[in-house]
Amino acid sequence: MSRFDAIVVGAGPAGSTAARELAASGARVLVLDRAEFPRYKACGGGIPLRTERLLPFPIDSVVEDSVSLLDVAFRGRQRFVRDSGAPFAHMVMRERFDALLLDQAQRAGAEFRPGTTVRGLEIDGKVCVVAEGFEADASHLVCADGAHSPVGKMAGLGAGIAECAAWEVEVQAPAAQLGSYRSTALIDLGYNPWGYAWVFPKRSVLSIGIVLPPGQAGTMKDRVAAYLDRLGLAAAPVEIARGHKIRFRRGGEPIANHTAVLVGDSAGLADEFTEEGIYYAIESGRIAARNVLRSLSGVAPLTTYQRDIDREVMPELRAARLISFMFYGMLRRAPRPWMLASSKFPYLWDAFFAVQKGESTYAREAARVPILPGLAARMLREQ
Ligand SMILES: Cc1cc2nc3c(=O)[nH]c(=O)nc-3n(C[C@H](O)[C@H](O)[C@H](O)COP(=O)(O)OP(=O)(O)OC[C@H]3O[C@@H](n4cnc5c(N)ncnc54)[C@H](O)[C@@H]3O)c2cc1C
Repeated sequence: MSRFDAIVVGAGPAGSTAARELAASGARVLVLDRAEFPRYKACGGGIPLRTERLLPFPIDSVVEDSVSLLDVAFRGRQRFVRDSGAPFAHMVMRERFDALLLDQAQRAGAEFRPGTTVRGLEIDGKVCVVAEGFEADASHLVCADGAHSPVGKMAGLGAGIAECAAWEVEVQAPAAQLGSYRSTALIDLGYNPWGYAWVFPKRSVLSIGIVLPPGQAGTMKDRVAAYLDRLGLAAAPVEIARGHKIRFRRGGEPIANHTAVLVGDSAGLADEFTEEGIYYAIESGRIAARNVLRSLSGVAPLTTYQRDIDREVMPELRAARLISFMFYGMLRRAPRPWMLASSKFPYLWDAFFAVQKGESTYAREAARVPILPGLAARMLREQ
């Protein structure tokens, strides 16, 4: 008999959530991560309010700031600010946020082994996970190993998932400048064919970064340096600078078999409008736990996880993709009028705030605009 019901590889938001929900239901769970925790993860740390609603515990202890203002610019010009009236997202440092989620998984009964890089899998009805000087087996495997997903690949899953790249720096801004960014998320548009730079406020640093299509990954460092210069922060000390992939599942790419499932970035569950993934990491961790429990009790095979993701998560990711093609398509065709229109008409950003707060969904907002699929398809062809 397997020692564990499930081994979870990766203790990011997806893995810790799956582990917590499994352990809370009485499953024997082992979480492995190659890193010692707390660990840094390249990330803006923007957590839409709707994410908090997925968690059965408060996250206040790790919230650095909450933003209600969205400051939008096009290459530093045509700047406008929209006020959501109340916070639409929290800002966290990932090392503290992820450590909180992992702590909750351990409190629920999950066992954690840090500093353990999984290098091999033997799958034969059950799964044996092989790391240096360590082996463990379980009846189920949850691959929560992030966008590179080496373990997902070993399980034969995740082929064909699209990707892009992002680069983040954490900057020690002078106190006055730091203060001027309070409660505000700054987005700078104007990258071709799509992409944006951001400034997200934290308690003692600013997270500044850029997300671009994969072919432009090599330009990210220089573009962030140019953005820092434009913000008057070229001389500010940079605490950390790092890039990482983000993956996008667009169709039926395989994310489950009878033994293993992919969750979070490993499954490409990030949206193509904001490039956020934490919400979907937590959501897919919950769906994975539900399906592992069903499989453990013999109610349904583990492969039903993919069906549930297709039903519960993919409509939202597809809608975000349509909105993204429409938004960036208009921006490329007519940047000045489109910026002017989005600054004058509240609909777009009000809908965005409603999604972030969990009061609406991308799918619902996209359905309100029946011409969107056709428009987005046209923009895509003209890209
Ligand atoms: C620069 C940047 C900015 C971003 N900003 C935001 C944002 O503001 N808001 C947002 O919602 N999303 C953002 N994202 C996306 C977000 O970071 C991811 O969607 C999220 O981290 C996914 O969580 P996860 O649990 O799936 O994977 P991860 O958080 O990447 O965790 C994967 C874990 O797996 C471990 N691991 C990997 N391989 C192995 C192995 N072989 N053995 C053992 N352990 C292994 C890693 O050490 C890691 O701890 C950003 C991404 C980038 C790159």
